[in-house]
Amino acid sequence: MTLTYAIGSTNNVEATDVVVGPLEDAARNANLTDYESVYRRSIEDPQGFWAEAAQALHWFEPFHTVLDESNAPFYKWFVGGKTNMAYNALDRHVQTWRKNKVALIWESEDGIVRTYTYWQLYRDVNKFANVLKSLGVRKGDRVAIYTGRCPEQAIAMLACARIGAVHTVVYGGLSTEALRSRIEDAHAKVLVVADGSLLNGKIVKLKEIADQAVDHAPSIETCVVIKRTGHDVDIRNGRDYWWHELMSLPIASARCESEPLDAEDPFFIIYTSGSTGKPKGVVHTLGGYMVDVYTTLKYVLDFKEEDTLFCTSDAGWIVGHSIVLYGPLMHGITTLMYEGAPAYPYPDRWWHLIERHGVTLMFTAPTGVRGLMRYGDAWPKRRDLSTLRLLACAGEPLNPEAWRWFYEVIGQRRCPVIDNWWQTETSRPMISNFASLPMKPGSCAFPVPGVALDIVDEQGQSVPPGVEGALVITRPWPSMLRTIYGDDQRYIDQYWSRYPGKYLTGDAAKRDADGYMWIIGRTDDVIKVSGYRLGTAEVESALVSHPAVAEAAVIGLPHPVRGNAIHAFVLLRAGYSPSEELANELKAHVGKVMGPIAKPETISFPPTLPKTRSGKIMRRVLRAQALGEPLGDLSTMEG
Ligand code: ATP
Ligand code: MG
Repeated sequence: MTLTYAIGSTNNVEATDVVVGPLEDAARNANLTDYESVYRRSIEDPQGFWAEAAQALHWFEPFHTVLDESNAPFYKWFVGGKTNMAYNALDRHVQTWRKNKVALIWESEDGIVRTYTYWQLYRDVNKFANVLKSLGVRKGDRVAIYTGRCPEQAIAMLACARIGAVHTVVYGGLSTEALRSRIEDAHAKVLVVADGSLLNGKIVKLKEIADQAVDHAPSIETCVVIKRTGHDVDIRNGRDYWWHELMSLPIASARCESEPLDAEDPFFIIYTSGSTGKPKGVVHTLGGYMVDVYTTLKYVLDFKEEDTLFCTSDAGWIVGHSIVLYGPLMHGITTLMYEGAPAYPYPDRWWHLIERHGVTLMFTAPTGVRGLMRYGDAWPKRRDLSTLRLLACAGEPLNPEAWRWFYEVIGQRRCPVIDNWWQTETSRPMISNFASLPMKPGSCAFPVPGVALDIVDEQGQSVPPGVEGALVITRPWPSMLRTIYGDDQRYIDQYWSRYPGKYLTGDAAKRDADGYMWIIGRTDDVIKVSGYRLGTAEVESALVSHPAVAEAAVIGLPHPVRGNAIHAFVLLRAGYSPSEELANELKAHVGKVMGPIAKPETISFPPTLPKTRSGKIMRRVLRAQALGEPLGDLSTMEG
């Protein structure tokens, strides 16, 4: 096993020697031991691959066509099949010994722990499905869900799935206007809302925010209010009902047959993070999502019967749908949901959760890793992390230095780090490394079985290894978005027009000589300095490789001579303070790691970086601020 890191230079194609692993135990026991042959089969015979994959799940009626391409890019998968997500996530298990296995562990920020077995979850989902029916919710109706992370959030989602209602989960804490516009966009009929949720020891007053939104959202007929924090809230007569009261009425019987739904029935609407502009209302349908998420996670997260998964995301984002809820439940494993902030009351909260609940798989985002790395090694070292066997990370490029910390301090060199690339639109990881393969810090490795992709130049021609280009997906996949809600034209324009027949991801990438994929940033963020194109990820990783730096964001601003110049925004690690001397040192450091062309023109030390609530750096906001331009859509920005 090689343990050398060329931190900061690992985005160069030459850096193929920076290889870690594979880790023997993880590789030997992996679900995917022969990546190459499984991948090859999925590409040579995609229909056969997916038809076979679909057999792992329950269908009320079999599909007659795996893929219908007749109206591309409006692809249809598993045509003619009838199925149900709640059935596959719950009923399938309660018919087996898993009936009383723990499905969901919830821990609140103030330390309450609640667990649900598959049977208990099944009963509550049935009950709430009956409640929704009694409120007039029918197949195809939209239900908005605006809560913190709590079991009722999961129950409400699964209850919608059971009766064929389309859920749209809005991240708890987005503003009144963000909630209102999503309700309006989706024409939601019912809103499931919590009174509040805890974050950093304070109550986020969700019901209060929702009241203002619903006042201007006439499609909402009923609000179902979950009592979580217990503070006083306004209950409007005839519109608002308490969850616990509805659930104790006779109409909330614990039997509700799951509706056989068409594979192509809409399953949910979810909005993108808004890193690059106004969030898009992405529509996912049932059958393709179900089969694809099930299959992909078996390989990428290497699910085993005895696993307990802690995914730090929220159902307000796609990761919360696929990794916190539907993926693990379809597989019959235990999922841990944590309500609050990662550093509350102390920066070891996540590590404490792992210790307390014996977590085996952890899934988080680079913002979480970098954020906790700032506090140093002592916090995780106080906790027993020996149950962990695999670490996964997605959402932004994982800088090699953050990778190293995650791998060495959290995973204690025992756990593969699964850097995986995906989007709200894809529903599931599309590029990933696997427990059985060697890792390269900073690279998200290889296309997942079933994913045909390419890196292309302006003309749409494939580029050779080492050359950067636009990342495209060249074939439809089952869990792809079907459209943007109510805006088919935007769907075509946004994803299918730039390179006809190919799905445009909007990300720039390159492949190294070993076939490893490196995401180098958003295409729009690539900075052109004196004719050279520089990805944000490379420059930011070079900055993060300096011991003083915890996080960095870079943007390009017009420069009279060089076309553009790089401007960097840096958050320091504990124990360092801003100074001109340090700024000069960092400039020199980047120059040394990447070459003089990448040397930032300015370095500033703001107290925070503008991020989406899902933790992604919003470079467009930094750019607009610097240029004195309007800031654009800020509905998902961290408050
Ligand atoms: P919007 O589309 O509204 O601008 P967004 O693209 O941030 O927001 P998401 O769908 O949440 O919304 O994020 C997907 C993006 O996140 C990808 O296009 C990519 O830029 C980035 N990303 C996700 N995973 C990784 C990863 N492992 N490495 C690098 N980048 C990643
Ligand atoms: Mg996007």
